[in-house]
Amino acid sequence: MRAIDKVLIANRGEIALRVMRTCKAMGIATVAVFSDADADAPYVRFADEAVRIGPAPARESYLVINALLDAARVTGASAIHPGYGFLSENAAFADAVTEAGLVFIGPPASVIGKLGSKQQAKRIAKAAGVPTVPGYEGDDQSASALLAASKTIGYPLLVKASAGGGGKGMRIVRAEAELAEALERARGEALSAFGDDTLLLEKYVERPRHIEIQILGDQHGKVVHVWERECSIQRRHQKVIEEAPSVALDAAKRAAMGKAAVELGVAVGYVGAGTVEFIADQAGNFYFLEVNTRLQVEHPVTELTTGLDLVREQIRIARGEPLGYDAAPPQRGAAIEVRLCAEDPERDYLPTTGTLYAVDVPSTIRADLGVTAGTEIGIHYDSMLGKLIAYAPTRREAAQVLRRALDELWIPGLVTNREHLARILAHPAFLAGELDTHFLERHAGELAARMPGLDRVRVAVVALTLHGIATRRAEIPGTPLAPTGWRNVHVADQQVTYTYGEANSEVALGYRPTPEGGIAFALGGKTTIVSRFGLEGDRLWFVEGGGHRRTARIAVHGARAWVQSEGLTLALTELPRFPELVARVVEGGLIAPMPGKVVRVLVDAGQEVAAGAALVVLEAMKMEHTVRATAAGTVRALHVAVGDQVDTDRLLAVVTA
Ligand code: ADP
Repeated sequence: MRAIDKVLIANRGEIALRVMRTCKAMGIATVAVFSDADADAPYVRFADEAVRIGPAPARESYLVINALLDAARVTGASAIHPGYGFLSENAAFADAVTEAGLVFIGPPASVIGKLGSKQQAKRIAKAAGVPTVPGYEGDDQSASALLAASKTIGYPLLVKASAGGGGKGMRIVRAEAELAEALERARGEALSAFGDDTLLLEKYVERPRHIEIQILGDQHGKVVHVWERECSIQRRHQKVIEEAPSVALDAAKRAAMGKAAVELGVAVGYVGAGTVEFIADQAGNFYFLEVNTRLQVEHPVTELTTGLDLVREQIRIARGEPLGYDAAPPQRGAAIEVRLCAEDPERDYLPTTGTLYAVDVPSTIRADLGVTAGTEIGIHYDSMLGKLIAYAPTRREAAQVLRRALDELWIPGLVTNREHLARILAHPAFLAGELDTHFLERHAGELAARMPGLDRVRVAVVALTLHGIATRRAEIPGTPLAPTGWRNVHVADQQVTYTYGEANSEVALGYRPTPEGGIAFALGGKTTIVSRFGLEGDRLWFVEGGGHRRTARIAVHGARAWVQSEGLTLALTELPRFPELVARVVEGGLIAPMPGKVVRVLVDAGQEVAAGAALVVLEAMKMEHTVRATAAGTVRALHVAVGDQVDTDRLLAVVTA
């Protein structure tokens, strides 16, 4: 038995946090490593100690084996957990860790090496009697050998890089005439991406489901499986939504897949947590794809349905403990996970960058996130912010809980795939369990964002406008904090215009006080009367019409605001309104550009002034602001005196020619 009392996590973001949480629960100290881009990241702050390992680019930090080993030495860590991605499936890293006298929390380097090559893994699977996709994984890589193999396999077929991963280096070939060119390109890609141009050919399975089996192997020769996960919702061969159990399996098929995965694990002497991936065709036949020799992104759905903590199991195994069970705990209920990403599904999933103003997750779900309020999302690493996972007695309920949680998830500041994920979860085909790896392409039309209806836009802009009124009042120095739900709000007739969305749609909102002390809002010919409103934290509520209380969460940064109400988030930009207002409110009118106190009045009514002449000086937050005549003329009216408190947009004076 090896003692593990301090673990260095050779990773970042949500997975570093995830691993550290279990370490802490097990009484194990944690060491984070960070690049310059992650110096203040949540996982760095969560760790007991953290060590800088280099500049932002991963190949100068998270992929530098010596820097990681140095960090372990400096901090006295006894083990290294690689997380997923980066060096997690790098046999040389596992070797170096062991060489340095540390425990590698993962399989032995020899096992990683064998399974890292799809070619070798497939041969091992075949030898172990595990069904594989018909194909070619021979050593003879000549064009003629591959061509001959393709004739036996038939078309369409898939060209894969033996060393490939993350869906990279795969191409579909639909006819023999395309083969030669596809091989040449795949070779080039594989060589530059993985440093190995060995190729595999595989029959292309039409409309497959991706189903994988979690396995655990201890150092005493025992390998068990911990049931399946279905990951058929993919985009470009990358998983987007994962779940357990799979609706495609009955008890017999589940048992058969589990048995095949265990047999493969035993055949390679598997130690640690691993995932045996399969695809299943429409007839229900399943075929081995590959083994991932690490913790998977989607491991939480297994945890929620079995009650196991897979990181704990990894650590126990690494310590040399026997698993202590011959069969996995039974699967209970259903769990669904979505990958929340900084990307814009409406712009071909381009990654998005920015600062998160808030991160608030409903308590109904498990959230494995690597971000908090203030986190800056840059360009250096992948776009996944983390995962949200729902658990319920049935799949339908889990989907509903997760969808609702996505509606409520508050993560302003950045465009994410949040709403897109919610639409997938609500899609009838998803709910019916009609999944395959082309689900997203096939339903792309139905899953695309619709322009929000005017009524939903109205709720957002009314809330944002009320938010402005409420905060301006609260900011006036010397006034008590604005009570919630007050009436008799001082507002003048105004119009405010916002833009939103891809096409910069404009929405103009007019508002004016009502004799009863409410505010009438007019938008697109429709008027609504708000009788009461208030601001609690970032939640603005208002009561409109006959007594309908609506709520929106709001984050304002400069002219841009994020407003989320009833599942819809709008990034609204207020158009400058000062010039129009002056003209519209009253000809020649000068209004307060900010809330404040009148500290000087420099003119008298009736006085002639030149263009640019100082009229009134306001003070707010220890700063003075001078309001000047926009054109030469006569001061027709003065509406304020020294000592007055004024709101933004309050009419101060009128100057006309
Ligand atoms: P990677 O290691 O790059 O992730 P995999 O072999 O694990 O590659 O395959 C990833 C995904 O590609 C699968 O989940 C599936 O969607 C698709 N895929 C792989 N092999 C086939 C095949 N023979 N037929 C159809 N789709 C496949």
